[in-house]
Amino acid sequence: MTLMAEPAAGRFGDFGGRYVPESLVPACAELAGAFREAWADKTFRDELDHLLAVYAGRPTPLTPALRLGGELGIDLWLKREDLAHTGSHKINNVLGQALLARRLGRTRLIAETGAGQHGVATATAAALLGLSATIFMGSRDIERQRLNVFRMEMLGATVVPVTSGSRTLKDATNEAMRAWVADVPHSHFLLGSVGGPHPYPWMVREFQRVIGTEARSQVPSVPDVVVACVGGGSNAAGTFAGFVDTTARLIGVEAAGGAAMTAGAPGVVHGSRSMVLQDAEGQIAEASSIAAGLDYPGIGPEHAHLGALGRAEYRTVTDAEVVAAIHRLARAEGIICALESAHAVAWVLRAAGSADLPAGSRVLLTLSGRGDKDMVTLSEGADK
Ligand SMILES: *Cc1c(COP(=O)(O)O)cnc(C)c1O
Repeated sequence: MTLMAEPAAGRFGDFGGRYVPESLVPACAELAGAFREAWADKTFRDELDHLLAVYAGRPTPLTPALRLGGELGIDLWLKREDLAHTGSHKINNVLGQALLARRLGRTRLIAETGAGQHGVATATAAALLGLSATIFMGSRDIERQRLNVFRMEMLGATVVPVTSGSRTLKDATNEAMRAWVADVPHSHFLLGSVGGPHPYPWMVREFQRVIGTEARSQVPSVPDVVVACVGGGSNAAGTFAGFVDTTARLIGVEAAGGAAMTAGAPGVVHGSRSMVLQDAEGQIAEASSIAAGLDYPGIGPEHAHLGALGRAEYRTVTDAEVVAAIHRLARAEGIICALESAHAVAWVLRAAGSADLPAGSRVLLTLSGRGDKDMVTLSEGADK
């Protein structure tokens, strides 16, 4: 199985598609065409690869986690997206889309952000390429992630607080899409994960594929298990893309309070059909997680498809397990990862030695980001 081709009509089996207002259909079609062309254009690919190398710090290392792996009785390799510029994998996708926006003659980037990592990455790319950036962020997340708001403003972006609904990522995404509708000729909507209408799930996976491609060439042998945390699912999608044609089991780990795959049902959210957390009336339910970046009721449609096929499996961990995992990794390896990334670590801690992850397993774990942004949350206690 490979994930190379553009999905026909943006469909991944029963999922995906393009459920947007009439006024956005031409913009999505134009974007799909532009990405298809750019991705086949050596000049575009070379420029992106160059920026990823000299600006974002790629390739990121693969670190053998010898002490933690030893304690758990497994071979554990960490793909270090925490070491990419701005502190997470988000920069891979953002640089790709920002170059595409410039190619399309757009001068303004519009983005949604949850933990603020995607907003910071977007503000960074805007500064680098001389574009303007408007970042929509839920007012609840603004309170939780003040440092990232300050970073975005330092980089010259405008941060717009969103006070509707649960005041988190879902609401910020709605507002960002509205702002795009109002300013299509000048704006590019720079979506941060593998959700949204076609071409976003495909395009963002392709921009994140670099994680899996690098890791595949860095691992000493094909892993038995490849594991990554899942919010919208972009770091997992990029990682899985490098291993979907191998025998490795692919495991996505969701927050127990945002478990679209485990606790959701098929539905449409933010422009595509996927698995979505819903209440009894089919209204989108509120997610809740200690990690703002996983506090999202949906998941990208390709994950819904891989899950339906049984090619990828999805697990959940609790906030308490996540906090324990971040501390354990820090003490054993000297790496303070993001709360989001710690979901993948928490599953490995729980599963190691069980039938789900037998002793001796070779495990590749994508560490999606670094934990600096979470120090305030962690120092205030796990119940925040
Ligand atoms: C945004 C973010 C995530 C969640 O997004 P995905 O699209 O699921 O990858 C995970 N980890 C970090 C560090 C993030 O910033």
